Amino acid sequence: MRKDLSRKDNAMKQEKKSIIIFLCITLLLLSFYPLYSLEKKGPLTVAESSDYTATSRYSDVMNFIRDLQEKSSLIRVETLCVSPEGREIPLLIIGQPVPSSPLALNHDERAVLYIQANIHAGEVEGKEASLMLVRDILLQEKPPYLDKLVILIAPIFNADGNEKIDPNNRRRQAGPEKGVGVRYNGQNLDLNRDGMKLESPEVQGLVRNVLNKWDPFLLVDCHTTNGSYHQEPVTYIWALNPNGDLPLIEYMREKMMPSINKNLKQKYDVLSVPYGNFMDYRDPEKGWRPSGPEPRYITNYIGLRNRMAILNENYSYAEYKTRVLGCYYFLHSILEYCHAHTNEITQLIHQADQKTVQRGLHPSEKDTVAVEYDLKPLKEKVTVLGYEMEVIEKEGSRPQIRRTDKPKAYSVPFFCDFVPKRSVSFPFAYLIPTADSEIINKLLQHGLLVEKLTKPTKLEVESFRITEITGAERLYQGHRMNSVKGDYNFEEKEFPVGTLFISTAQPLANVAAYLLEPESDDGLLVWNFLDRHVVPQWGRGPLPYPVYKLLKPANLVKERVK
Ligand SMILES: [Zn+2]
Repeated sequence: MRKDLSRKDNAMKQEKKSIIIFLCITLLLLSFYPLYSLEKKGPLTVAESSDYTATSRYSDVMNFIRDLQEKSSLIRVETLCVSPEGREIPLLIIGQPVPSSPLALNHDERAVLYIQANIHAGEVEGKEASLMLVRDILLQEKPPYLDKLVILIAPIFNADGNEKIDPNNRRRQAGPEKGVGVRYNGQNLDLNRDGMKLESPEVQGLVRNVLNKWDPFLLVDCHTTNGSYHQEPVTYIWALNPNGDLPLIEYMREKMMPSINKNLKQKYDVLSVPYGNFMDYRDPEKGWRPSGPEPRYITNYIGLRNRMAILNENYSYAEYKTRVLGCYYFLHSILEYCHAHTNEITQLIHQADQKTVQRGLHPSEKDTVAVEYDLKPLKEKVTVLGYEMEVIEKEGSRPQIRRTDKPKAYSVPFFCDFVPKRSVSFPFAYLIPTADSEIINKLLQHGLLVEKLTKPTKLEVESFRITEITGAERLYQGHRMNSVKGDYNFEEKEFPVGTLFISTAQPLANVAAYLLEPESDDGLLVWNFLDRHVVPQWGRGPLPYPVYKLLKPANLVKERVK
């Protein structure tokens, strides 16, 4: 009997336990219900719905965006540009509320941030990750970030390249197996070399409809790597050209990026390392270095504009799903940092613009434009989680370098500090007496303030005498890039009515200098815009360089060119 009772007791206890467990599970499920139901509401990207075997086509992206628009009032779609093949490139404006225009933000504390993906359309994870990001922000009951940030996203920047999806593209990349697009846009141009010459509708649209219009404090440009072997799925680098605002570069390098990447590791368990390649595969200990400082690279161009930029390169040999999720969490980590530091960042940017304008009003001899750079290592070494490498010598051909499966951490010098090696004077203004409409349009496209003299004026200026100009033998981006030699002189010169006057007391002064300096490695002369002004049909030698520098302030009668 006692036995029976205790059995009954036990059975009752068991039943009670089961009920409690059942209740707990129900409560747990209920607490997840909002998330679960939201997930069910939101559209899936092609990456997700294909179990990471495919990437979105243009129509998939547009359908995904329309689906989100039906579910959320916090998104508006603008057109960044029409691609060479006629596709409208969507620019998503995400805000709470969505600002009707940049003017609507004038009396608003929110700051604007911009993310673009798929500029090289074989490098697709940014496209998938940025779409997931928009969905997962918009469909939360309380969307994060939007009290302080307006987020602009161009998920498919190079749509023409994207539509050429083929499994044979980027074969060394680890998926998606159903193929990716091509690097080039519909004009066969590399859009990430178009930062200064602005010859593609996509980059022209970026400058006109994003940078000059919305003035984002940060641009994030999503890519996939092509080079070294390492374990980190996410890599990144900031703007590198030392003609940009140095405090901004230092802030990104010393504070912002380390913090973003620490968070990425701690919160999302994703490893990252500054973007680069071993300088010598045979001897990785020699060092690690990123790409060059030229502003033809979009992120370096943004630096010249006194804004922040992150080049995101996801590791080509990591599985597609790892790359998509790595990029997705990296974008979250960036947003979290910017959300927590909005005031600090906007203040820094404001100071950079102010300093630039002040310098242009009264340039001193200490103010210069760097035209050649040295590459120096940072004080701290970088640790790259790589692999032991194997060198296979082959007679008569280049040695093959293969990675082994043995992980190896390399703590090596990080050559990432481009510093001026040779600099020239920074002027009060640039003067162009013989500007044609192509030159004027190029300056205006960048958003520069361009004026013209309305009275003939005699001025003491610095001029550049070209002694040698050579077009490159090899065509590059449709150009035979010029290299030039010459010397600087002072002269008194009469400037006629209509002479262009480009003041350096404007926030984009560094862009103006980079375009107009004769020895600039990414200026109008290099990219052949001045060819017919400097090389005569008849006669000896090149003509004088057509841009003059007014070093000292002068009050001139002029009007704005539109
Ligand atoms: Zn790329």
